[in-house]
Amino acid sequence: MTNNIYFIANWKMYGSTTSLNSLNKLINLSRLKKYKRARIIYFPPFTLIKDFVTKFKKTKISVGAQNCHQIENYGSFTGSISAKMLKDLGCNYVILGHSENRMSGETDFDINKKILSAINKNLKIIFCIGETIKEKKNKLTHYVLKKQINNGLKNVKNFKNIFIAYEPVWSIGTGIIPTKKELENNVSKIKKLLAKKTKLKLQILYGGSVNSKNLSNLRNISGINGFLVGSASQNTKNFIDIIKKTIN
Ligand code: PEP
Repeated sequence: MTNNIYFIANWKMYGSTTSLNSLNKLINLSRLKKYKRARIIYFPPFTLIKDFVTKFKKTKISVGAQNCHQIENYGSFTGSISAKMLKDLGCNYVILGHSENRMSGETDFDINKKILSAINKNLKIIFCIGETIKEKKNKLTHYVLKKQINNGLKNVKNFKNIFIAYEPVWSIGTGIIPTKKELENNVSKIKKLLAKKTKLKLQILYGGSVNSKNLSNLRNISGINGFLVGSASQNTKNFIDIIKKTIN
């Protein structure tokens, strides 16, 4: 991997105000010259966003949210948070299209509206795509990637804030990762699909059971610019190990 390397920490529905103490070591690491290529971005639950923004204030670590509502400003949507509200909190990023949200009913159509709202509010978007195990077994992976990209990015004119996270659903939280050949093939397909939409070279991340033990199989995959890490990022020591083993 060359240039900047992205390390996304998705804390899902975990963490409390006491979890922030563990981040000091990571802040120290982020200041070392050796790791200046590391672009670290935390996605805590909504409840901790403000604390994370404050904690990382004098660092180059960014903060994002794990989802947002499709209406970009304000509205009568009980329990929802808009892109405008995230921006107001100090967020610079949002994850959209995560498979855990797709599984609870979020459609490509909803995701597209959310992406457009986040673009309007100048948030950077980690757009998650990936096939389920059934789709993989039925050799539908490329079909699914095409559908998710075309539907999710419909009417998008400005791609500069879009990152793609390729996350095979069968790999998330299972400890199973794709083979090098499989991953490179799917990443290359994603790049071809994106090239039809924009001249910009979007950052492509891989997500799915990344940990410090399997990193040696992932760090040399051509075409990827970093990792979206779920469970292993919730333990700061593990997350630091991932960063160290990627940039050594
Ligand atoms: C994720 O939350 O997107 C993810 C990849 O989780 P995990 O690393 O736990 O598989």
